[in-house]
This record gives sequence, structure tokens and C-alpha cells, in this order.
Amino acid sequence: VEEIIGGIKMGLSKEVYQALEAIVGPENISDDPAICQAYARGGYGTFVYDKGHYTPACVILPGNTKEVQEVVKVANRYRIPYIPFSTYYLAFCAPARPNVIMMDLKRMNKLISIDEKNMYAVVEPYVTHSQLQKEAFKRGMYHQSLGCGGQASVLANTIYSGLGPLGYRVGFNGTRRLLGVEWVLPDGELLKLGSPSILREYFWGEGPGPDLRGIIRGLLGHCGGLGVITKIAVKLFSWVPPSEAPLEPTGVTPKAALKLPTNRIKWYNVHYSNMKDMIEGMYEISKAEIGAMVHTVPPAWLYIPRTESGTDFWEKWSKDKEKFREEGFYFLRVLLVGFTSEKQLEYEERVLKEIASETGATRIREGRPFDRSWIIGSDSLTVYRIAGAELSPKFVFDSIDDAAKLLKGIAELRDKQVPPFYDIVDAGWIHSNDLGHMAYGEFLLYFDSEDADEAEEFETTCIKHDLKMKSYSACQNPGRHRMLGPKMGNYHLLLEKIKKAFDPNNVSNPPKPVDRV
Ligand SMILES: Cc1cc2nc3c(=O)[nH]c(=O)nc-3n(C[C@H](O)[C@H](O)[C@H](O)COP(=O)(O)OP(=O)(O)OC[C@H]3O[C@@H](n4cnc5c(N)ncnc54)[C@H](O)[C@@H]3O)c2cc1C
Repeated sequence: VEEIIGGIKMGLSKEVYQALEAIVGPENISDDPAICQAYARGGYGTFVYDKGHYTPACVILPGNTKEVQEVVKVANRYRIPYIPFSTYYLAFCAPARPNVIMMDLKRMNKLISIDEKNMYAVVEPYVTHSQLQKEAFKRGMYHQSLGCGGQASVLANTIYSGLGPLGYRVGFNGTRRLLGVEWVLPDGELLKLGSPSILREYFWGEGPGPDLRGIIRGLLGHCGGLGVITKIAVKLFSWVPPSEAPLEPTGVTPKAALKLPTNRIKWYNVHYSNMKDMIEGMYEISKAEIGAMVHTVPPAWLYIPRTESGTDFWEKWSKDKEKFREEGFYFLRVLLVGFTSEKQLEYEERVLKEIASETGATRIREGRPFDRSWIIGSDSLTVYRIAGAELSPKFVFDSIDDAAKLLKGIAELRDKQVPPFYDIVDAGWIHSNDLGHMAYGEFLLYFDSEDADEAEEFETTCIKHDLKMKSYSACQNPGRHRMLGPKMGNYHLLLEKIKKAFDPNNVSNPPKPVDRV
């Protein structure tokens, strides 16, 4: 149905709708206003990253690569923008242009194969981290499940971001774990990268010729701005064989957990009296190459899972927060896994205790034998229990020292702006990656949706702070390239050229991956 709203012709013509319907069948397309409205916004960064969004013109659910190609070709023929998305966990899926076709990939949900010998899995866009992790565990393998929750798409998260504490041993998904790729280019042509370009198998991602994976992945990836990725392979790693240490689910959501077999897997909680000693501990653990995850825990995280509601959280937190402000809170969680044997776990426990003692830890004790978060998928949705909205305006990808220094600086800036931001006292969290060669630091800002403008401004403040400190500034906002580009070799101009070359009709989630104008 076409109608004029605010001078803009809204909706698709009958001709376009019928062309799309002919591809997927009437049951897999809709322009019902209620359904379209439901697809208009959601995910991380809502209120900030989807400012000024439009309601889409229709929602289409292609069931395979050929249908994706045909939808993309129709979109190009009529110059209508389309947005491909997987589990819609990010607000970048919200239309920044009117009359958009929302391409929901939820019918493409096959875990196509797991190659046990060569240790990789091939997935379609709607396979989630939890699904893949469960199948990998059955075969004595694992995949790096991410911080945002096991319900996010493996594919979307591998081309966008891909961060989680299991990266301590295996590195980030985005930069390290992408193998063969099947890619519907913005004009509908099909391109395969790596081994699938010449063989049927997906075991290898590089070449032949220039490695184009760099175009589709990254901290932000292309956010659907360079076509649709329809299939990828990701690397799997050795875990404890399930016959030797089964992982049993226990509890009911939101308190569901994995019960850990303590003969092979244990959490350790290590407390310090100051940041310097804790960082020293993190480095020493990495040097000894023990552990499967090493990450700090901000004090508020102890309260979030133990409270029943926002009110309950604020009552308990308000009573205790001054203690954390005065005394600081330096708490390290270490997951030890006897990947090869029970003896490995015993050895790592001894090494960890020695490191704790040598680096001045005030207390070390075994954690409860459960995992409610990182192994199979974290429960990060509870962050929204604290406030109406959350934004991570600051990320660090550098050394552990640098992460601590930069996050502390940002916390001081945040404290000057409480209210409207919520008083969480802490300075975010750090997890060690690639055996301590790199750290990931993230600062979390909690606010109410009506304070979204202030939150966005605060993101600008963080970027300026980074530039002043001469540190690499990373933020999740794909609208910041023109601000950062001039300080970083004008990469934003390159990005604009790539967009023009790949998507000459500017129909693939415009304007991404370049800034909104
Ligand atoms: C509370 C919270 C915490 C988070 N913490 C972490 C974290 O610790 N680590 C981490 O890595 N990430 C984190 N994230 C972000 C996370 O990476 C993404 O939310 C997730 O990976 C995206 O998966 P998705 O399936 O929901 O992608 P979507 O939201 O569906 O898509 C993300 C972007 O990619 C595009 N896209 C999706 N699928 C395709 C495709 N098949 N082809 C082309 N383009 C596509 C979309 O257009 C969109 O712009 C967090 C998010 C939230 C909400």
C-alpha cells in the first residue's frame, strides 16, 4: 500500500510487492503495518543508534541463497533499499531510509555440517551461538561463545565484533575465526571466498588472490551495507570429551546454568586490594599459559544476577556502593579447564595459587561449580534490569595496562555526569585475549531512554578523550567514521570508495558502512 507521509511516498508499489512475493511465496512476505512496525527498532543501542529510523515497507523471509539473490536483484532493479539481518540484536538493523525491505534470515537456520576431523562448522545466518556450542560440546569441541548472549547469530557475530572471554585462548571470532564464506554481493551476484571458491569444502578462508574477508568483518563489520552473507565456516577447538566431563544444564531461565564437572573445570575467584596487583596477576597467568578465561568483574555485576528487579537492584546497590567507591573492587575470575586430563587441572590450580600469592592477592577461592554466563552464552539481557538503556561508549583493544588506564579515565568523566547517567561507580571490565597479548576493555553506561542524546554526546566525549590520550579510539557507532577517519589515515574515504564500488545503487542497508548523513 502506498501513501504519502511527510512528503515522502511510503510503501511499495503493487508491482514490486508482487515481484518479491513471487520469489518467496505469500506466506513469507508481509506489509502488514503492525508487523512492519515490529521490525522498525530493537537491539543494542536502541534510542541512540536507531535515531530517526523509519518503519520498513515490507518484511521478507527468503529460505535459501537463491531466494536471497533474487530479492537483492529485485531491490536493485527498482532501487529499493534492503536490510539483511540475523537475530536483530543490534539497532543497526533499523531502517535509516524510508521504504526499506527488511530481509529476515530466520528461515536460513541450518547448522549445515560439523567437520570433526578438521574442526570447523558451516552455518547459515540464523544458527545461534548456543546451538553451535551445544553441538560442538557433544563432539568434544568448542567455539568462542560471545559476551552478548548465546541467542545471537554465529554468522552475524563473526562478521561483526565477535568478542567474548573464551577468546583468552583462541582470539576474537571476527578477526580469527572466519573460514570459507558464501556472499551475495549488493547487486545479487554470488561470490565465494576461500576454499569454497574452488572446492565444495569450507575449511579455508584466505584467497585465492587477495583476501576479501577484511571487507566483510571487523569490530563493526559492514552492518549489512555490503550485501548478504549466506553461509560461513568457523573454526572449532578441542574441549574436554563429554564422556569424561559432561556439562549438565540446571535451573530454569533466567537462572539457568551449566553444572561444571569439577574434576575437569573450575572457576576461581581471586581478590586483590588494588588495580596494579590485579593487572600483574593477569599478566602472570597469561605468561604461565594457564586458564581458559581471565576477566575482571565490576562490582555491579555481583548484584545484577542476584536481584529480582530494577527496584531490588537499586535498593541493594545503593546501600553498598559507597564501600566500593572508597575501597575499590579488584576481582578477577579465572576459568581453569583440564583440557587434556585431570592432572592438567590440578597443575593449573597449583600454578594459579602460586601466582595469586606472588602477586599479592588478598584472597583466592574456588567459585561455585556453575556457569551462568560465558561458556554457552551469557545472560547479558539482565543489564537492562538496571536502567532503561545501556550503551558501551568506550572499547579498548590494547594491552591490559592500557585498558585499565583508559577505562578509569572514562569513569571519572562519567561521574561528572551523574545524573542523568546512573551511578554504577565501576569502570567497566577487562578480559584478557590471545593469552594476554591483547586485552578487551569495555565501559558500560546506564541511562534512561529519554537521556539518549546525553549518552550519544558522552560517546563523543569518550572519543575525544581517546584522541587526547593518543590511544586507538574504538566505538560501536558506525556513524563515527568521519570523526575518526581524519585522525586515522583517512580510512573513512576508503570506506566510502568501497561502498560505491560494491553497491553502486546504494541499496544495501544504506548508508552503511559509511556514516549517516
Ligand atoms: C547486551 C548486549 C551485549 C553485547 N555484548 C557483546 C559482546 O560481549 N561481544 C560481542 O561480540 N558482541 C556483543 N554485542 C553485540 C553483538 O555482537 C551483536 O549483537 C550480535 O553479534 C549480532 O548478532 P545478530 O544476529 O543479532 O545480528 P543482527 O543484529 O541481526 O545484525 C547485526 C548487523 O549485521 C548485519 N547483518 C546481520 N546478518 C547479516 C548477514 N547475514 N549478512 C549481512 N549483514 C548481516 C545487520 O544488518 C546489522 O547491521 C552485545 C549486544 C548486546 C545487545
